[in-house]
Amino acid sequence: MVNSCDADVIVIGAGVAGLAAAAALCRNGLRVICLEARGRIGGRIHTVHDALAAVAVELGAEFVHGCPPLTLSLARRNSLPLIEVTGGRVRLEHGHAIDDSAAARGAEAVLGSMRTEAGEEHDSSFASFLDRHQFPAPDKRRATEFVEGFNAAFAGRISIAALADEARAAQAIEGERMFRLAGGYDGIPLAIHRMLSSGLGQVRLHSTVRRVEWSEGRVRAGVSSPWDGGEEALRSRALVVTVPLGVLQAAPGEPGTICFEPEPVEALQAARALCAGQAVRVTLRFDRAFWMEREELRQACMMFSGEPVFPVWWTMAPFDTPVITGWSAGPKAAPLTGQPRPAVMSEALSTLKRMLGGVPARLESAWYHDWQADPFSRCAYSYVPVGGLPVRRRLAAPVAETLFFAGEATDTSGHTGTVHGAMASGLRAAAQVLEALGRSGGTSPPGAAYQLL
Ligand SMILES: Cc1cc2nc3c(=O)[nH]c(=O)nc-3n(C[C@H](O)[C@H](O)[C@H](O)COP(=O)(O)OP(=O)(O)OC[C@H]3O[C@@H](n4cnc5c(N)ncnc54)[C@H](O)[C@@H]3O)c2cc1C
Repeated sequence: MVNSCDADVIVIGAGVAGLAAAAALCRNGLRVICLEARGRIGGRIHTVHDALAAVAVELGAEFVHGCPPLTLSLARRNSLPLIEVTGGRVRLEHGHAIDDSAAARGAEAVLGSMRTEAGEEHDSSFASFLDRHQFPAPDKRRATEFVEGFNAAFAGRISIAALADEARAAQAIEGERMFRLAGGYDGIPLAIHRMLSSGLGQVRLHSTVRRVEWSEGRVRAGVSSPWDGGEEALRSRALVVTVPLGVLQAAPGEPGTICFEPEPVEALQAARALCAGQAVRVTLRFDRAFWMEREELRQACMMFSGEPVFPVWWTMAPFDTPVITGWSAGPKAAPLTGQPRPAVMSEALSTLKRMLGGVPARLESAWYHDWQADPFSRCAYSYVPVGGLPVRRRLAAPVAETLFFAGEATDTSGHTGTVHGAMASGLRAAAQVLEALGRSGGTSPPGAAYQLL
């Protein structure tokens, strides 16, 4: 069997989860083929290098949330400078900055009380948690804006047990701090790719996996090529699947989806029970940073508002460049979904005009990627619905020692929806594969997974 295989392990997807899994497996002496549908690596890390922007523009992940050891270590070892995001937070109404500190403190109290109350046995949605308590209405509103905006979630669906879990995990890595990779987030997937391609691994781009036939210890992946429309079959002993939750949930036959034969029923049921969050971001470059001309906005990095779509905007602080990003997530992103690009851009611009009381500068460039319509993501990132914490664990469990699911949606350490959570899930899957194939590596202690890279 071993000799008839094209690789020991096939990995589907060359986002950070797939790359981390592949690099860790290569490092442990396994031959790995990583199949990627797009013509680039990185998946939901998608950096644009625009010579006139002075900074890297991100269309997907932008921030390193907290100080996750693996990201920091990759950045250090590959000389990728990390810049801490500085500057204040401002609330804007009808073009004016208002003092919102009381409601912001109130929202923090609401979230603190939610963390105390939540537990796997006492789960509920965030909205029903609010209904059960008599917090002041503005505090509830701010807390809801935060939960929906950050998690790309609906307050009526998201689990407070999962939110509390994520808050604990974030606290352990100084989650209140935020960083940017000065040269672009794509430095991280590129760094992992270098490790993988210098070993026994290869990444094949433009390789969409359409069909997986498998039995214990045997995998046959049907891969379509965009060049001639033909299908190639590749064989391995194990398969790591890192496609996004939206792809796992899509109806069979939709572009990007994978038909499993036989279906790993429990894993796919688990995937369907999780939530695929929506987020829309638009980045605009003007001929000058006109917001810096206003005293009250000069030090601001984050601007919040009650706008129906694009309520949140951030600057590139501490970089003094005329680039600003609008963010719409959860219910606020829903009206934008499926809209053509000009409609989204026009909504973003008119929101910015209302928020700042005008846009006295010339728009020079604008970037937008529709992650919901993208057949290879079909969502922004996942979140856990009420009662869903055990579901994630089911998705992360090996299937017959042959199929292994990884990717941000399978993270069980409280870092779901992040780059570092996705990487860690890839390392966890690699450890599971090594154990299944009788190699050393194992799954414990948790820190050992990091040693795999
Ligand atoms: C707009 C946006 C903003 C974000 N902001 C942040 C942030 O600031 N900080 C942060 O930490 N995280 C952020 N995230 C989340 C972060 O980007 C993801 O959690 C992480 O990149 C997911 O990595 P992954 O490897 O699990 O999935 P992906 O990166 O999506 O990789 C999966 C890969 O599978 C490929 N694929 C899909 N179907 C097939 C198929 N049939 N055959 C072959 N290949 C296939 C895809 O093309 C993709 O490359 C953001 C995400 C979005 C969308």
